[in-house]
Amino acid sequence: MQRRCEWRSPPDSTAMAHTSMPGENLDLTSDPDPRSSSPADDAGRRYIGVTFACCDVYARVYINREESAYVGNCPKCAKRLNIRIGPGGTEQRFFTAY
Ligand SMILES: [Zn+2]
Repeated sequence: MQRRCEWRSPPDSTAMAHTSMPGENLDLTSDPDPRSSSPADDAGRRYIGVTFACCDVYARVYINREESAYVGNCPKCAKRLNIRIGPGGTEQRFFTAY
């Protein structure tokens, strides 16, 4: 006698559940980076706190797109501030711009 009770699984219909749309570049990874000690705002951009000595005001300065420097302006006199991030990154979170 030949046994014919072999179970055949139905076609997997859940294989399409995880697809990525071409052209979409949303990066939703939120893994905490242990190398990063800088805080991040709601948009995930890192920033530092800077005291602008020129006007004695404090403001946040956000990291640039390339994450190579923190770039901002004095909120009062618009003095340009550019703090380059070193190869190992900076552990400092607060600066004073003169
Ligand atoms: Zn200023």
